Amino acid sequence: MGATSLSAADNPVTTYVVAVRALCEFTAKVGDLDLRFTPSPTAREGIAGHGIVTSGRGANYQAELSLCGDFGPLHVRGRADGYDPDQNLIEEIKTHRGDLARLPDNHRQLHWAQLRVYGHLLCAARGLAEVNLALVYFDIGTQQQTVLRETRCSTDLAALFDDQCNRFVAWAAQELAHRSARDAALTTLRFPHPDFRIGQRQLAENIFKAQISGRCLLAQAPTGIGKTVGSLFPALKAAPAHRLDKIFFLAAKTPGRQLALDAAATITAAAPALPLRVLELASRDKSCEHPGKACHGESCPMARGFYDRLPAARRAALGVRVLDRAALRAVALAHGVCPYYLGSEMARWSDVIVGDYNYYFDGGALLYSLAQANGWRVSVLVDEAHNMVSRARAMYSCELDRSALKAARAAAPAPLQKVLDKVGRRWSALAKTGSATYQVLPQLPDKLLVALQATVVATTEILVESAAPLDPAFQRFYFDALQFTRLAESFGAHSLCDLHLDERLGSTLSIRNIVPAHYLAPRFALAHSTTLFSATLSPGMYYKDTLGMPATTGWIDVASPFKSSQLVVKVIDKISTRYQHRAASCAPIAALMARQYADSPGNYLAFFSSFDYLEQVASLFAERHPGIPVWLQARRMNESERADFLAQFTADGHGIGFAVLGGAFSEGIDLIGARLIGAFVATLGLPQINPVNEQVRLRMQAAFGAGYDYTYLYPGIQKVVQAAGRVIRSETDRGVIYLIDDRFAQPAVRALLPRWWGLEPGPLDAAVA
Ligand code: SF4
Repeated sequence: MGATSLSAADNPVTTYVVAVRALCEFTAKVGDLDLRFTPSPTAREGIAGHGIVTSGRGANYQAELSLCGDFGPLHVRGRADGYDPDQNLIEEIKTHRGDLARLPDNHRQLHWAQLRVYGHLLCAARGLAEVNLALVYFDIGTQQQTVLRETRCSTDLAALFDDQCNRFVAWAAQELAHRSARDAALTTLRFPHPDFRIGQRQLAENIFKAQISGRCLLAQAPTGIGKTVGSLFPALKAAPAHRLDKIFFLAAKTPGRQLALDAAATITAAAPALPLRVLELASRDKSCEHPGKACHGESCPMARGFYDRLPAARRAALGVRVLDRAALRAVALAHGVCPYYLGSEMARWSDVIVGDYNYYFDGGALLYSLAQANGWRVSVLVDEAHNMVSRARAMYSCELDRSALKAARAAAPAPLQKVLDKVGRRWSALAKTGSATYQVLPQLPDKLLVALQATVVATTEILVESAAPLDPAFQRFYFDALQFTRLAESFGAHSLCDLHLDERLGSTLSIRNIVPAHYLAPRFALAHSTTLFSATLSPGMYYKDTLGMPATTGWIDVASPFKSSQLVVKVIDKISTRYQHRAASCAPIAALMARQYADSPGNYLAFFSSFDYLEQVASLFAERHPGIPVWLQARRMNESERADFLAQFTADGHGIGFAVLGGAFSEGIDLIGARLIGAFVATLGLPQINPVNEQVRLRMQAAFGAGYDYTYLYPGIQKVVQAAGRVIRSETDRGVIYLIDDRFAQPAVRALLPRWWGLEPGPLDAAVA
């Protein structure tokens, strides 16, 4: 159903398809923003609630009735929850939790507006003179139904429908005009630079082909080719012909988002006639103007009257070409509305949306929900996609900590203390069932889960009643319990539930996602095309399997702009960095580093598997080679300490920075030219063998027949390549990489290293073609 998607049918320029819900949200939402009725019931609870309500209806009852109608350029469509022809009764069912009397008036008005639009569409479709309307509120907690009824004649409903449409039609007209001008300009859009860089054309062409065929793509593309412009440009180019509504550019970190905004600015600067709307989505934490307040009008001034001021803010925001965080904030403050929720609103009206992965991939993702509800055709670009497996796992995992329960109990409102006590008792009973410090539970702990659900229900009811925000300690536990109970609904072989017992720290209960494919596959399926790109995506099969990408997903390994003559790669296979050989490895590693430094003084980075190992080698090195400057990564460095560490790498500097593989200095940093002339990688990067990782290995073996590779080898080598990739950052850089461990000589390991390094290519990537 398209709120903003333009009709793919007869005349895409003059017909505007809008979902009933989106139409009413635009025209009938007034007053305060109020999220106290959210988190509303979970998706499963909502579906179950609908099922309970409709199961009591007669044999002729028509559930999920598709309806549509036209008004000028608008094509309005949607699905009414149910129609009972025996009673000539159309129903809209809303599940909720808590006292219905607390439902804000503006929510109820919105529900009536939707139902009346459906009433009109039904009367028009079936030639009815009148229809009975029922708004059915179903309380998930008490299982009670509250039914509000009215009877309306078709003339009345037609007038209401016309009124809704009239209030939307001017906006729709400007949207149509915008889309038309945007697509016309995109059709003739030229690449914003005089020429493509080496590799950039290959990347752009493959992304363009992926858009044409509507397929997903895994693109391993090296640093330095201009990936951001090289991916955004072809997606934009493909938009008119393939009727793309929006492009989502998702990045793991803030610098990646900034690169995307810069790329959009470069493209639009080179095409002044292109009216592209670009939006940056930032997290609520970063956007909130009143931290500590709750998101409703009784608590926060930015929520009070939000919908009354939204139309003016929305119009003003449309006037800003690139709505980055600062621009969005300026508009929001000028109109007294919350910047975070203004951002969510503007996602509906923007062409390119830049944000974190979670806006499309996590459980309650805004962009995914909007795309789904509105039938948008979207192209998704995912930068630094080697992070996707770990990020997606985290999105679908949750940890409950016993000490957090204790803190929540101490801070809980009095009526909740009893339910929390019950959680505590059931937790204690569970902990007594085993004595091992780590155990994978054969099934979800049902009794504890029931107690957690009761906590969530009771807390939601209190939230609905109260104007004050929750105590932070209690709120933290509440959100964790909410996430835990939600994940429990979709629990399966893709995840495990485990219990850690620690005498000192207490116990931790987790739902741990191992294979995010189960959750992500529908997201890939919904998008017209998704491209995952990164400098390290080998082997593609690992990402395709674990992330749940479609079988038709393509793979490219983009040629590097760098030549093997720029880099010397030395495999030191006489040294083992395995845990049991570490003590013996320190002296030869220190000697090797000193030798290289003496041969070619300059700046180096040395990577180790842990801080302990780093400190052992660094202290021996400093003792034996006091004349060579060293600087060490510390365990918890803040932003300015990290900047100080990097500041040591000056173009005329000399010394060795000791860092941990997979840490802050092993990816995402650019030390061009003489700022870095070499790296020592004294580890294969393999994740530690521990009970959790061994469980991961078992699941990976069962799912893909590649337990060791998918758990240890591929994630490890990916980190090595990222870290070593710090050395050559431009076509004029020169450098050396020492890969220190006998296992780097193994063909299976070498096959995972970049081809341009000049080592033998491996067969693995061919498997994903
Ligand atoms: S400013 Fe903060 S508290 Fe207020 S509505 Fe926005 S996010 Fe919520």
